[in-house]
Amino acid sequence: MSLIVHKYGGTSMGSPERIRNVARRVTKWARAGHQIVVVPSAMSGETNRLLGLAAELAPARATTEYHRELDMLAATGEQASSALLAIALQAEGMPSVSYAGWQVPVRTDSSHTKARIESIDDQRVRADLDAGRVVIVTGFQGIDELGNITTLGRGGSDTSAVAIAAAMGADECLIYTDVDGVYTTDPRVVPAARRLTTVSFEEMLEMASLGSKVLQIRSVEFAGKYKVPMRVLSSFTPWDIDLAEEAQSGTLITFEEDEKMEQAVVSGIAFNRGEAKVSVLGVPDSPGMAFRILGPVADANIEVDVIIQNISKDGKADFSFTVSQSDFARTLDLLRETVLPELGAKEVVGDPNICKVSIVGIGMRSHVGVASKMFRVLSEEGINIQMISTSEIKTSVVIDEKYLELAVRALHTAFGLDQETA
Ligand code: ASP
Ligand code: MG
Repeated sequence: MSLIVHKYGGTSMGSPERIRNVARRVTKWARAGHQIVVVPSAMSGETNRLLGLAAELAPARATTEYHRELDMLAATGEQASSALLAIALQAEGMPSVSYAGWQVPVRTDSSHTKARIESIDDQRVRADLDAGRVVIVTGFQGIDELGNITTLGRGGSDTSAVAIAAAMGADECLIYTDVDGVYTTDPRVVPAARRLTTVSFEEMLEMASLGSKVLQIRSVEFAGKYKVPMRVLSSFTPWDIDLAEEAQSGTLITFEEDEKMEQAVVSGIAFNRGEAKVSVLGVPDSPGMAFRILGPVADANIEVDVIIQNISKDGKADFSFTVSQSDFARTLDLLRETVLPELGAKEVVGDPNICKVSIVGIGMRSHVGVASKMFRVLSEEGINIQMISTSEIKTSVVIDEKYLELAVRALHTAFGLDQETA
């Protein structure tokens, strides 16, 4: 008998009919002799709806009191879907019980709306499993030291599921979603994109951080830290497909480099439209400038991604970096108002119409010339590279947003990722 955690995303839980399907699928697994813990998201659109109601009443405020109430509010979405699933399971004749995060409890720190899980007490869940019940634990939420309900950040149910799997030593964590696995790139941009049957944990981590939306990045970090075997698979297959077939479907996130498989040098192409570029021009080329520019940015809690500084000319350098588009205006204001006058730089300019395209693959460790091939492909398409950043297993470029599709398609083909068509 194995212990398996199932996580169902919002679309999979999107209507009573879909919840019934989830219940039938879970029942199939439980009747096959597995102990099952299910972690559902809120029904699709529900978290947005709830947060929208709050926004109608008051503009967002950066206070703990306000964020505490947002958590109180948003956590109800998962509480509802969990109870509905328990009801659906019981209707299938499957004994089942649902718990909110605080009932388990799933303990977190107190950073409302982006809390981190600190520990999970699995006693209550285990007792129910041993009594033959399917146990449902709300995704996305926990409780802090003071007894306040917290949430883990948007998409946080993935992390709940992996954390529960880790805490309970589950055999596998199955992330059921509306796509049938992890693809070489977004199939909406490249129709020839292929599903990966396996992807290494490190590649998945890069892809998640580079804009692939399949998994919340923290869930991948968690899986890596505790070596939780994790699989991404579709909840839209018929619920009654053969269990063994279902168990092998989707994409498995692996921890060993698989020698059996022929490893492509580049496994995937990730992209992110949500960034913007900010440049400080004519910065005096003297020690401490990067800190004097980025220090205030960090203090304002603005996350910086790609950074470049060019060689100085006449004792002046230009300094550019990217931030999330939602922080763009705030970053410009900050730099213009506080940094520019103090620094004696010439001006601050910005461009919100950029995107970042990245190639990812653990094979890049052992192959040379991968980045230069990327640059060649882009140059052949006449695409200008504005910024470059690399790590051991990825190369990212910042380009004009209007070339995003062209760049991703060209790279997908050039690195041999296109699906073979018969
Ligand atoms: N319901 C939450 C959200 O929409 C958490 C999740 O679905 O993972 O962000
Ligand atoms: Mg999600």
